[in-house]
Amino acid sequence: MQRNVAGFLNAMVGLDVVTGQEVAERFERDESHCPPQRPVAVVFAHTESDVMRVFQAASDWKVPVTPSGARTGKCGAAIAAKDGVLLSFEKMNAILSIDVEDMTATAQPGVVLKDLYAAVEKVGLFYPPDPNSWETCSLGGNVACNAGGPSALKYGVTGQYVLQMNWVLPDGRFIRVGRRTFKGVAGYDLTHLFVGSEGTLGVATEIVLKLLPTPRAVRTALFSFSSLRSAIEAGRQIFALGVLPRALELFDDVAVRAVRPHIDAVGLSAGAQAALIVELDGGSDDALLDELSRCVRATDPLETTVAGDQGQRAKIWNVRQSLSAALRRLHGLKISEDIVLPRSKVLTGIERFKAAGLAADLTVATYGHLGDGNLHTNVCFASETDRPRVESFVARMMEEVISLGGTVSGEHGIGLSKRAFLLSELGRAQYEVQRELRDFFDPSQISNWGKVFR
Ligand SMILES: Cc1cc2nc3c(=O)[nH]c(=O)nc-3n(C[C@H](O)[C@H](O)[C@H](O)COP(=O)(O)OP(=O)(O)OC[C@H]3O[C@@H](n4cnc5c(N)ncnc54)[C@H](O)[C@@H]3O)c2cc1C
Repeated sequence: MQRNVAGFLNAMVGLDVVTGQEVAERFERDESHCPPQRPVAVVFAHTESDVMRVFQAASDWKVPVTPSGARTGKCGAAIAAKDGVLLSFEKMNAILSIDVEDMTATAQPGVVLKDLYAAVEKVGLFYPPDPNSWETCSLGGNVACNAGGPSALKYGVTGQYVLQMNWVLPDGRFIRVGRRTFKGVAGYDLTHLFVGSEGTLGVATEIVLKLLPTPRAVRTALFSFSSLRSAIEAGRQIFALGVLPRALELFDDVAVRAVRPHIDAVGLSAGAQAALIVELDGGSDDALLDELSRCVRATDPLETTVAGDQGQRAKIWNVRQSLSAALRRLHGLKISEDIVLPRSKVLTGIERFKAAGLAADLTVATYGHLGDGNLHTNVCFASETDRPRVESFVARMMEEVISLGGTVSGEHGIGLSKRAFLLSELGRAQYEVQRELRDFFDPSQISNWGKVFR
């Protein structure tokens, strides 16, 4: 059967559907640099049965459906297919329950992460995944991209907290995968096949999350260094002390320059060419202060600022959160990647990208999660006419990442923007098996078709 949008829209009568100008303005792009694409309609799901109905009709009328969370994604994964519709989860945003004794939370996919944090904190529990977009991104998007953040070093990424999901398959069938218990190995682990699938294997309609006890103390510090090498070496020294920080965030010289006006407010040495945010958490403040002093002695920074209260801690993290915008203010345009390198290759990688940038007359800034090697490498440029040249530069950089044993995405996903690199990273045999798996779940080419694979 041919694609039939009119037939699909007829089948949607009674559901919450918008078309026209509102669709164009709010739903044609996400936070990536991918070209916009206007969906023919947006269907807002209110219930699980709405979602099943959308996929059943989409299968009948062969209309591609792109799931949509809060649209903060950075790889174009939530951009509609041509002549396709969006299925928005923003109105399925209830926190259904928090079970203190079982240490679980059950939530709908449209819940904004900051609301989940607030609800969980209220009962003294802790949900660790902390993407920097936590004030706006949704849980469904986090699950679909397997989002991570600074605390992934110690606590891991979203997938490590997903116990069970209600899942609607691309043909509209409903299944429940996983279990509410913290352990369980019966059957294939479909939960963790679906986590990170970027909407290509169906959608989550309810998610049960594992929670942890809240650490009683947190200490955050900003260390400044005279060179990138000494900052990276400092990270190594901290691990060598037997300390596993909750976060270990790196700023290179370009990043330091970009945030310098904000950084002065939190006290960073005038000579700093690199910086680290070191955050520790645990049972007692005294023990953390003692560990921080040991870290300072072992790493010998130019200057150290230890946040004395929540306000100062927030100021340090604001510097980190303002980085992307600060780089844009300094350089105009940028393509930001989220590569991962083995820890032993981080310095080599960053130095190679900088040197290649210099040779190509491009500024390369690198910052991000030094602790797990997940780096935001930003290639900065001034004019749109440079974009094709910058894209070729990024493609060469990705080949280098793969040859160093790294990966092209640590947290943002593949979506549209990194499809070109996936074959290189996975190799032909695995790439084909993964594509066959997608085809098995979605033979009618419905669920976020065109993403991840070309
Ligand atoms: C300022 C900023 C900072 C960021 N920092 C981080 C960071 O630190 N770490 C990080 O990991 N990411 C980060 N991101 C990227 C982004 O916030 C994450 O990828 C986030 O998980 C996307 O969530 P979303 O709700 O916006 O999803 P969307 O962008 O709407 O969608 C993302 C993907 O999820 C799919 N999807 C949405 N809902 C469902 C569902 N219910 N079932 C199945 N698939 C679904 C979509 O189809 C798409 O493939 C950042 C983005 C910005 C703008």
